[in-house]
Amino acid sequence: MEIDLHDYIASIPDYPEKGVIFRDISPLMADGDAYKYATDKIVDYAKDRNVDMIVGPEARGFIVGCPVAYKLGVGFAPARKKGKLPRETVSASYDLEYGTAVLQLQRDAIKPGQRVLVTDDLLATGGTIDATIRMVEELGGIVVGTAFIIELKDLHGREKIKDYDILTLIEY
Ligand code: 5GP
Repeated sequence: MEIDLHDYIASIPDYPEKGVIFRDISPLMADGDAYKYATDKIVDYAKDRNVDMIVGPEARGFIVGCPVAYKLGVGFAPARKKGKLPRETVSASYDLEYGTAVLQLQRDAIKPGQRVLVTDDLLATGGTIDATIRMVEELGGIVVGTAFIIELKDLHGREKIKDYDILTLIEY
């Protein structure tokens, strides 16, 4: 059965600030069939790439990546905001509209040579996923693909990560 995932995205005007339309995946997650459909699409993509490990940034990258990891029987490593991980980490910063933010990954999260799929809910400017990819590569991981539920075309994130394979399930 084909499902149009657009039907499960809530669009919130002027959030978090005026002029921005926030695309909320909560209705998709709340619907078992839609969540499974989206997960299965990413699982199929990952199966073709012999993925050893999945990495996703806080917090919605977990929601997308963890069920895929479970289904494939591979591990998941969370990329977290600075200061949240208890052991030795690697870090990568990325630009926000005002200032910068830092993501971290536990230094032993990836073994050199592991094939890694990076997941998040949404690709906008690509800054978040690019920072995540840089950390995976610093640890010797091979990024064999990136997967998102939503792509915001106007923000051109695809260009930022043009050296990598990209799966997006729906576009705005
Ligand atoms: P980027 O770094 O590509 O500019 O922004 C993507 C990151 O910001 C993702 O981690 C995503 O969760 C979050 N994000 C930015 N805009 C939206 C949005 O409209 N909806 C959702 N669900 N997440 C967003």
